[in-house]
Amino acid sequence: MGHSGSDANEQFDLARQAMVQQQLRQKGIRDERVLAAMATVPREAFVRPQDKSLAYDDRALPIEWCQTISQPYIVGLMSQWLDVHEQHKVLEIGTGSGYQAAILAKLARHVYTLERLAALSRDARTRLMDLGLTNVTCLVGDGSRGFPSFGPYDRIITTAAAPTVPAALLEQLADAGKLVIPVGSHEEQVLTLVERQASRFIETPGIACRFVPLIGEQAWPETGSASDSTKR
Ligand code: SAH
Repeated sequence: MGHSGSDANEQFDLARQAMVQQQLRQKGIRDERVLAAMATVPREAFVRPQDKSLAYDDRALPIEWCQTISQPYIVGLMSQWLDVHEQHKVLEIGTGSGYQAAILAKLARHVYTLERLAALSRDARTRLMDLGLTNVTCLVGDGSRGFPSFGPYDRIITTAAAPTVPAALLEQLADAGKLVIPVGSHEEQVLTLVERQASRFIETPGIACRFVPLIGEQAWPETGSASDSTKR
């Protein structure tokens, strides 16, 4: 028996530390809790087997069903902006691979993550369980309507692009809550922060970004064209 398994793990550990340094710290991600979470969660466990060697590249990668796992910097930026505290209950729309949910699980009390494609949700659930992350609940459904039964949520993050901020998400946001969501066209969106103060919602625009579409009742209709694999 050789040592290839542990050698591979060492390579991934080194690549992960380099990612934190070069793609996150040097590019302005300063939240130490976010940096620590991203320094521990093995991103290689969330990409397709044939892409493991690319897991720490500075880019989004394709996952099953023409969806994508976001670029590490975008995950770091969204997590930092969301300002998650350890007592928070968080709702994520767009489980995808489960990577962003794993990062949030390190930061929050509990994470509910909603995915419209049951097969993706099932695989993400397996990965999260294998990593011993027990404070994540994987749900299947249309996240453009939120998930009222477990709300209100201290934080909501949408990792798919919406034409406008779905009203249901605003309704399910707790007082003093924060929501981070890419809003715009199919081709380009603005990462947007919405802060709730009682019945007021204050929107702050951030950087331009490109996510796969949020498909649902309060978002984009299903079109049948599934050429989104190059997007975040
Ligand atoms: N956060 C993921 C990446 C998300 S890609 C990760 O870390 O890997 C966007 C995901 O949103 C896709 O998996 C897509 O199927 C899902 N999605 C699109 N519309 C949705 C909706 N209305 N409700 C729930 N999930 C949706």
